[in-house]
Amino acid sequence: MSIKSTKTPITGKILIVEDNLDLLSLLHRVLRAEGYEVIMAVSGEEALGRAEELPDLILMDIRLPGEIDGLEATRRLKADSRFTRIPIVGMTAQLMEEKAIAGFNELLFKPIEVDHLIAIVGRWMGERQPKN
Ligand code: MN
Repeated sequence: MSIKSTKTPITGKILIVEDNLDLLSLLHRVLRAEGYEVIMAVSGEEALGRAEELPDLILMDIRLPGEIDGLEATRRLKADSRFTRIPIVGMTAQLMEEKAIAGFNELLFKPIEVDHLIAIVGRWMGERQPKN
């Protein structure tokens, strides 16, 4: 696969939460190639810990093993004042009604199309508030 971008890269840190390691690896590779710093988690529990590194955007798989799935992790992050402002894009294979409840800012449907992913991430990263 070749990943080309003629845009000026937008820098920033993205947390990817995904238990499918092949998909995690693909997302990591694509977003690194776009110039982003990428941190990763494979479970909801790990995601909550990684969030303390204050990523600019979180890509959250909804179906995760263990007690904290992507819905619960998102609810907890959105309920925590340290993390409320961080946009969370849910990744799911199914249309679901839980988006509003959990507080996802957007949903990205699987199978994930790389150009679409890059566009969505670029939009959120471009819109993010400067840190102070
Ligand atoms: Mn999953």
